[in-house]
Amino acid sequence: MPKAFLIDTTRCTACRGCQIACKEWHDLPAVPTKQRGSHQNPPDLNPCNLKIVRFHEHLDKDGRVMWNFFPDQCRHCQQPPCVAMADMAVPGSMFKDKKTGAILITDKFKDMEKIDVETVVASCPYNIPRYDAKTKMLTKCDMCIDRVQAGLEPMCVKTCPTGCMAFGEREEMLALAHKRLEEAKKSFPKACLVDEEEVNVFYVLAEEPEHYYAYASFG
Ligand code: SF4
Ligand code: SF4
Ligand code: SF4
Repeated sequence: MPKAFLIDTTRCTACRGCQIACKEWHDLPAVPTKQRGSHQNPPDLNPCNLKIVRFHEHLDKDGRVMWNFFPDQCRHCQQPPCVAMADMAVPGSMFKDKKTGAILITDKFKDMEKIDVETVVASCPYNIPRYDAKTKMLTKCDMCIDRVQAGLEPMCVKTCPTGCMAFGEREEMLALAHKRLEEAKKSFPKACLVDEEEVNVFYVLAEEPEHYYAYASFG
């Protein structure tokens, strides 16, 4: 049975606990940052940040500032174009784990030519994977596969203090996502659920997708 995440952004306070927990579990070093006039730091996903909380603001029709938070990560797509491209270039360099549905990368990726790496990166509709030139590996969220195989929750889910995130069987998470959407609509009439058929990370958004960085730029 494939696994899935629910990320209900209407409950996200942008504490960034998930972002840090992801780094800690994967033993990834700190990335030097500087004040750029935004609370989003580092500015983008990178080989040391497999998950980041994105901040996006806009004015509503009454001129009030709306501030949307978006914990961004690999969607573990149902039909992942990254796996199709990688497997064409170097068979076995990426695969979909049969039991969990996690999209994973193997050491064979190191054999890939630069031009094929670029094709794999460009194939992702959500602009997620990042190449680490030092290790010659592609990097992205791995669903905390070691934890999930041991019967534990992914580290980001375990850490979230607001109940924004949940993890479990796909059908169960989909049902929960629809329930949360109905609840969210009471406070946010334009709340929506995005790409539920295509992915295994279900986002409940408080507003239309174009008001979130991930969908404004790449959707
Ligand atoms: Fe691949 Fe991108 Fe889908 Fe993740 S979100 S499985 S990197 S295509
Ligand atoms: Fe990071 Fe694990 Fe969460 Fe993926 S599932 S974003 S690897 S903590
Ligand atoms: Fe949002 Fe939860 Fe991540 Fe905090 S830990 S930023 S509340 S998803």
